[in-house]
Amino acid sequence: MDADVVVIGAGPAGVPAAVAAARAGATVIVIDAADRPGGQYHRQLPHDFEVEDAGALHHGWRDATAGFDELVANDRIRHIAGTRVWLAERSPDRVTLHTTGAHRGTVRAQALILATGAAERVLPFPGWDLPGVLTVGAAQALVKGQGVRPGHRVVVAGTGPLLLASASTLVRAGTQVLEVLDANGPGTWRAAGPRVLAPGKAVEAAGYLRDLARSRTPYRPAQAIIAATGDGRVESVTIAAVDRDWHVVDGTQRHLDVDAVCVAYGFSPNVGIAAALGCDLTPGGGPAVVVDRLQRTTVPRVFAAGEITGVAGADVAALEGAVAGAAAADACGHDVDRALVRRQVRRREKAQRFAAALQRATPIRHGWQSWLTDDTVVCRCEEVELATVRSAIAEAGARDVRSLKMTTRCGMGWCQAAICGPNVVDLLTVATGAIPDDANRLAARSIAEPVALSEL
Ligand SMILES: Cc1cc2nc3c(=O)[nH]c(=O)nc-3n(C[C@H](O)[C@H](O)[C@H](O)COP(=O)(O)OP(=O)(O)OC[C@H]3O[C@@H](n4cnc5c(N)ncnc54)[C@H](O)[C@@H]3O)c2cc1C
Repeated sequence: MDADVVVIGAGPAGVPAAVAAARAGATVIVIDAADRPGGQYHRQLPHDFEVEDAGALHHGWRDATAGFDELVANDRIRHIAGTRVWLAERSPDRVTLHTTGAHRGTVRAQALILATGAAERVLPFPGWDLPGVLTVGAAQALVKGQGVRPGHRVVVAGTGPLLLASASTLVRAGTQVLEVLDANGPGTWRAAGPRVLAPGKAVEAAGYLRDLARSRTPYRPAQAIIAATGDGRVESVTIAAVDRDWHVVDGTQRHLDVDAVCVAYGFSPNVGIAAALGCDLTPGGGPAVVVDRLQRTTVPRVFAAGEITGVAGADVAALEGAVAGAAAADACGHDVDRALVRRQVRRREKAQRFAAALQRATPIRHGWQSWLTDDTVVCRCEEVELATVRSAIAEAGARDVRSLKMTTRCGMGWCQAAICGPNVVDLLTVATGAIPDDANRLAARSIAEPVALSEL
C-alpha cells in the first residue's frame, strides 16, 4: 500500500495532519491502533453502542467530528483502523511501515507524520500494582470508550491538568470521586506565572471545578497517595500532606476506604518509533521529539505533531497537526497555502507559552522516592523491586541506564520501559547525583509494539 504521506495516529494531531496534507493535494494513509478516530482525548464508543449524545463527555466535539467526517469523505485519505505500526524503516526517498492487527503488511510513503501521542506517567508507591489502581487515562478510556465506571468510591491523585479533567469526566459519568489530590501546592502554580491562566484554558478549568463543586468533591493541593492496601484488590489508601519536594509531612497520614484509585503524574510522550528512526529527542529521560517551526524532526521527511513533541493539550496538538500535514505535503511537491501555515505557526507559538507555563506548574519532585519501601515494585513487567534497583546502583556500581537494565532487567518486559523508564532514570539521577548520559536509551524501541513471531 502506497501514499505520498503516512500519518501514525488518528488523534487530535493526526486527523488535522491528514486533512491538511490531503487538502494540499497529497494522498494520505492514516494508521491508528483504535477502531475509531479521536485518539486519547476524543476517544469514541464502539460502533455498535447506542447513545443519545456521543459528544456528552467531550470538549471540542463539533470540530473533532468535522475532522472524522473528512477522513471518510476526502477520497485522497485512507484511514486504516485497528492497526498498529510495529516497525518503521527509512531509505533516502521513502519510509516503510510494518503493521499488525486489522491490516497486516507494509505501508510505504514519501513522508511520515508521527502523531503517536503520550501516555500518562505513573509513579510507583507501595500497593500501586493492586487491581483497582489505574491511570486516569485508563479510567477515561473505560468511561468514554466503554461507558463503564472504574469504581464507586474513587480517589484521583497525582499532578497536572489531567487530574481536574478526568475527575470531572468521572463525576459527570456518575462516579463518586471522594477527593482530588495534587502533590504540587498552590505556590508552584503561582510561580508558573500568569500565562498558566490563558483565557480559554481558565474557562475550561473553571468548568471542571464547577463539576467538582456540584458533586462536593474536595480538591486538595500538596497531598498525595503514598500507599494503597487491600486483599486481592485496592480497599484503602494512605494519604499524606507533602512538602515542596514531596517528602511526607510527619503526622499528616490518614486513610480512606476506596474501591478504585486513578493516578497520573503528567505524561511520557510515545517516542519509540521516532527514536528508532533516529529523530533527536529532548535530553533527560522523559523525552519528547525535537521539531522545528514546521514540525520537521531532525530526520528528513519525518514530521511530528501533538503530544509526542511535548505536552501542550488537544488544541495545540490540532494546530501542530495542521502545520505538519501542510509541511509534509510541501515536501512531496504539493502546493500549500503558505499564508495559512504562517498564521497556524503563530497561533501555535502563542499557545505553546501556556504549555510551557503548565509544565512549570506541574513538576515531578524527587521526594516521591521516599514513599517507597524496599519491596515496592518498580518495573511491573519484570517484577523488579526497589531493593534490587538500589543494590544494582550501590553494590554492582550501575551508573547508567544500560548497566542498570542489564543487572536488574528493568525495562526488558512487555511495555519495554514505557512505564518504568522515566522512574528508573529518576532513581539513578538521585542515587548518583547526575542525569545518566544515556537517559533516553530506554525510549528507543526498534520493535515499537508487541508482535507475533510469525509476523517477523
Ligand atoms: C485522561 C486524559 C485526559 C485529558 N484531558 C485533556 C483536557 O481536558 N484538555 C486537553 O487539552 N487535553 C487533555 N488531554 C490531553 C489530550 O488527550 C492530548 O492533548 C491529545 O489527545 C493529544 O493528541 P495527540 O494526537 O498528540 O495524541 P493521542 O490523542 O494520544 O493520539 C495518539 C494516537 O496514536 C495512536 N498510536 C500510537 N502509537 C501507535 C502505533 N504504534 N500504531 C498505531 N497507532 C498508534 C493511538 O492509538 C492514538 O489514537 C488528556 C489526556 C488524557 C490521557
